[in-house]
Amino acid sequence: MKRRYNSLNEYFKNKYGKRVQKITLDAGFFCPNRDGRISKGGCIFCDSRGSGTGEYGLLSLKDQLNRAYALLKERYETDLFIIYFQAFTNTYAPIDKCIDLFKECLDEAKSLFKVVGLAVGTRPDCIPDPFPERFSSLASYVDELWLELGLQSINHRTLKLINRGHTLAEFIDAVLRCKRWGIKVCAHVILGLPGEDEEDAIEMARVLSALKVDGVKIHPLYVVKGTPLEEMVIRGEYKPLELEEYVKICVSFLENLSPEVVVHRITGETKAEELFAPSWTLRKSVVINSIERELERRGSWQGRRLRLGLSQEELCPLVER
Ligand code: SF4
Repeated sequence: MKRRYNSLNEYFKNKYGKRVQKITLDAGFFCPNRDGRISKGGCIFCDSRGSGTGEYGLLSLKDQLNRAYALLKERYETDLFIIYFQAFTNTYAPIDKCIDLFKECLDEAKSLFKVVGLAVGTRPDCIPDPFPERFSSLASYVDELWLELGLQSINHRTLKLINRGHTLAEFIDAVLRCKRWGIKVCAHVILGLPGEDEEDAIEMARVLSALKVDGVKIHPLYVVKGTPLEEMVIRGEYKPLELEEYVKICVSFLENLSPEVVVHRITGETKAEELFAPSWTLRKSVVINSIERELERRGSWQGRRLRLGLSQEELCPLVER
């Protein structure tokens, strides 16, 4: 079935004729929002694994590559892979050190299997110049070069409340500088943050469309045990979304997102034993099916409601008057 949104799987199938699988790596970077440079507390929803899998932290990159490749090749029967540096802030080191590490890893991976891309997750305030220029040189190694920037919200009050430690302006600045060098940018966003509603999600989709980001990763706010967010829930200061609420907000987000933007993910999950709430986030396929059903029920699709200003026809009569 053709999806009503521009999913990453469809994007790869159109480009390569088959599935492309991500191999997630942990290169041992840390985060300035945890080590005291920005703050010690971290984002209120972040666990000690820094939004990574936490599975590979003690293994060398070579061992991580070998292990992940063996597992994923069997599970998905594909021979095309993307290397993804996920955990913590993967540009939080001197630029040369980062670029050398990415290069070494790509060389190692290419000796083992077919690598079509590199994706690096980081914070928007950790992209100093000339990082974009240096990073863009890796385009000669891979077909797909992505920088994944954690944004989560465009609302300055929310960014403060969740202790992100960066602003929307820093995100916009990073996007513009990366795009100037031809780097594809994927924005990570969370729907259902404290104090936010459907209108916030709609405006965020419109801002990301106007900025012409290349991709988005959307996920609901889930509460991990041991985080400041869990304490907020216990104190009654935050109530996690119900599945129906998330579906409604997510579909409105998609309706206001440019159809050009590739949707890398429309839900997210953590390990069952680490999740405090809401339990429906563990049922990934139920969440995805519910979103697709709601798009169908509304007779809608990605970008259907996106409108950025008046058209020429609408504007001219006003100007003439
Ligand atoms: S920026 Fe990322 S790794 Fe750092 S505290 Fe926030 S979610 Fe965790």
